[in-house]
Amino acid sequence: MAEVLVYVDHVDGAVRKPTLELLTLARRLGTPVAVALGAGAGNTAAQLGEHGAEKVLVHEAAEYAEYLVVPKVEALQAAVEAVSPAAVLVPSSAEGKEIAARLALRIGSGIITDAVDLEAGDEGPVVTQSVFAASYTTKSRVTKGTPVVTVKPNSAPVEAAPAAGAVEQLAVSFSDKATGTKITSRTPRESTGRPELTEAAIVVSGGRGVGGAENFRLIEELADSLGAAVGASRAAVDAGWYPHTNQVGQTGKTVSPQLYIATGISGAIQHRAGMQTSKTIVAINKDPEAPIFDLVDYGVVGDLFEVVPQLTEQIKAR
Ligand code: FAD
Repeated sequence: MAEVLVYVDHVDGAVRKPTLELLTLARRLGTPVAVALGAGAGNTAAQLGEHGAEKVLVHEAAEYAEYLVVPKVEALQAAVEAVSPAAVLVPSSAEGKEIAARLALRIGSGIITDAVDLEAGDEGPVVTQSVFAASYTTKSRVTKGTPVVTVKPNSAPVEAAPAAGAVEQLAVSFSDKATGTKITSRTPRESTGRPELTEAAIVVSGGRGVGGAENFRLIEELADSLGAAVGASRAAVDAGWYPHTNQVGQTGKTVSPQLYIATGISGAIQHRAGMQTSKTIVAINKDPEAPIFDLVDYGVVGDLFEVVPQLTEQIKAR
């Protein structure tokens, strides 16, 4: 069976969930071969093997942490040349998309970004995207070279699929271009202890109806009772009530969680663009005519200041 390369997003050897989802999709196309780079890459093998990776190509070098994405692109290119895969799958993060685009250019291939599903086809992988603010889904196929596909988080389940996870060292020699842009400092963001917005299984978002920065405490309490990430509409972000990094929508982040709870959000098309592919959508809004109700699986017509605390209390009591 053809091999399928999966780029591994990991932090010091701990594999992030979107990569495990890619392994589920890769198994539909062929035999998954993971590519893990940087400090701790060798430690990813057990986790990747448990989720279907037959092989893990590993290269640990300081360059991956010291320079921007080009060393990673050159390593993936070396992996493509070594394996001749049927496809290359990369998580659809900002960095993942940059790596994938640069790789596609270097290997002369077509690229499809932000896939929400993948299946095997007679002439290569058939890729589903959600477009025009999730009004349509399209199916496409790369017609040139080795298909490079970035996949949005939460597009596939994480599945246990024991495989060998055999570590092989990847031979990489960096060009001058790889070390062209050095990282001079890193300032980690203060951790909230909540899951990353784009990867979270549950997202609770607040909009203008929340009425002020101090009231976002209610949204955070509900989120924490569910182990969820917190999102915000642009109206709430523009008002300075919540950071832009948490904005969901056309000019914010795209999320596709199992459960999305919109509180005090009207459901403007630009907001929908960022959350419409969520599996189950719940809205709490005091206006029964709010457009968000056209979209929801469950709607609560009511004042969020009454509904949200009760909901949090009920969930905590379970
Ligand atoms: P509103 O539309 O004002 O809705 C507030 C809702 O809260 C109302 O439905 C109201 O009934 C309800 N409400 C009020 N009080 C309560 C209460 N006590 N209890 C319950 N419900 C209550 N928007 C985004 O979100 N993300 C984007 O990325 C984005 N990008 C944009 C890009 C462009 C180019 C443009 C032009 C706009 C963009 N917008 C974006 C803005 C978008 O058009 C809307 O203005 C915005 O989404 C509205 O936010 P909102 O729903 O929080 O506010």
